[in-house]
Amino acid sequence: MNTIQKNFIAGRWVESKSKNTFPVTNPATARTIALVPEGCIEDIEDAASSAAGAWEDWRNTPATRRIQYLFRMKQILEAHTGEIAEICTNECGKTFAESKAEMVRAVENIEMACGIPALLQSEFSEDVATGIDEFVIRQPLGVGACISPFNFPIMIPFWFMPYALACGNTYIVKPSEKVPMTMTRIFELLQELELPAGVLNMVHGGKEAVNAILAHPKISAISFVGSTSVAKHIYQTATANGKRVQAQGGAKNPIVIMPDADPDTTVRIIADSAFGCAGQRCLAASLVIMVGEARTIFTEKLVEAAKAKRCGYGMDPSADVGPVINIESQNRIYNLIGQGIEEGSKVLLDGRNATIKGFEDGYFVGPTVLSDVKKGGVIHTTEIFGPVLGLLHVDTLDEAITMANESRYGNSACIFTRNGSAARKFRHDVLAGNIGVNIGVAAPMAFFPFSGWKESFFGDLHGQSRHAVEFYTQTKVVIERWHDEWTRKF
Ligand code: NAD
Repeated sequence: MNTIQKNFIAGRWVESKSKNTFPVTNPATARTIALVPEGCIEDIEDAASSAAGAWEDWRNTPATRRIQYLFRMKQILEAHTGEIAEICTNECGKTFAESKAEMVRAVENIEMACGIPALLQSEFSEDVATGIDEFVIRQPLGVGACISPFNFPIMIPFWFMPYALACGNTYIVKPSEKVPMTMTRIFELLQELELPAGVLNMVHGGKEAVNAILAHPKISAISFVGSTSVAKHIYQTATANGKRVQAQGGAKNPIVIMPDADPDTTVRIIADSAFGCAGQRCLAASLVIMVGEARTIFTEKLVEAAKAKRCGYGMDPSADVGPVINIESQNRIYNLIGQGIEEGSKVLLDGRNATIKGFEDGYFVGPTVLSDVKKGGVIHTTEIFGPVLGLLHVDTLDEAITMANESRYGNSACIFTRNGSAARKFRHDVLAGNIGVNIGVAAPMAFFPFSGWKESFFGDLHGQSRHAVEFYTQTKVVIERWHDEWTRKF
């Protein structure tokens, strides 16, 4: 009997008012391990009312006191890293090491948000006119919500939630319906914090719950991470409803290899980037653009590095590449590889039909490398979100940059070289929000914004860092004259 995941609203575990459920599947075994409610307008109504009701007291709690909860939140997560990471691996598929790495990223964002008393400090100008002072104060918006994707069940809500709470907002987390168990366990553990009821809520569900968030008058700010088509819908609908929105979308990240790049480290790093998390990472290397002689130096080495990656169940310590999230995703990846071959790509390594002993039903896709990818074809332009690397070939760095910039996405772009001026030109000219120089996954630390450009991001302020503080506060300018002082002077 599979348990139905509950919502956490107003400090209590409650059943969803929706009678329908989605199955939650372990992608390594294809077995259903839980059921999650589809969610409904009434669930969001309850969560939004609970968060709105808790807001007045929470915003009047000094920031120095609010962050005491965050210090303990960090300790709780760290004390339960292994347990949370195992749940993540079993519903999401990634390896145990990858799940634990997510925990580190989540905790770093809590640590950053613990600096909120200083981060909320603002500008002050004395005597803007005689006896008149002017200053800015930052105040919370009210109720915030985040809607997250399946591929980072632990980390992504922490790009937003700790900052929102630290700034004095109350909050609703809506995990992906494909991986709801990890955040449910985190919320169970966070009960130990004894946060005032309603400050932090969690609602499960899919489309209906999300659309109710976008429409709810008591929700002021929305952080979304997921595919570009949904990100656009979130941004357009929620901004039309007067909400503040940051919506991170999909990606197709190019990596440029110059002929002078260090061969061994370059292929090791690119293979980790392309095949880690089974390629289900918005910063994954998806295309390698080889410049000139790089083709002869790197192609075979890359294929060897890809072959060395072992597919397997994420809790098996020898596995490097876990399964993809579900059968639909596996089929989609197979189809895209097939289309790429029809378009003329050469198969250097074919990961279709990877079978793992003891996990024969799992949704595994082995590392796949396609070369001579057709410009403008599916492998070049479509976000595959699987362990598939396409190789393209150009003669010059200028051509490589032009090719990178033709993409509709702009999440990240990386270059491998020993030449400083090539690296500088690349970082200056490339139209992407996160740039790696001899780095395979250009993931910003918590104290930098998680930038994204073009169709990888809709909004103005990004997640993490000071951006998150600005996103979850509004500025109030005060111009102040005290009469006694004014009369004394004149
Ligand atoms: P998704 O867009 O299918 O789902 C994301 C969230 O949106 C989920 O919570 C889901 O319930 C909700 N949702 C899905 N369809 C909806 C609809 N029609 N209406 C309203 N809500 C809907 O994304 P996913 O498959 O879970 O995640 C993978 C995608 O996320 C990839 O495209 C990946 O690049 C992207 N991603 C981007 C970043 C980034 O930082 N830019 C980070 C991680 C993942």
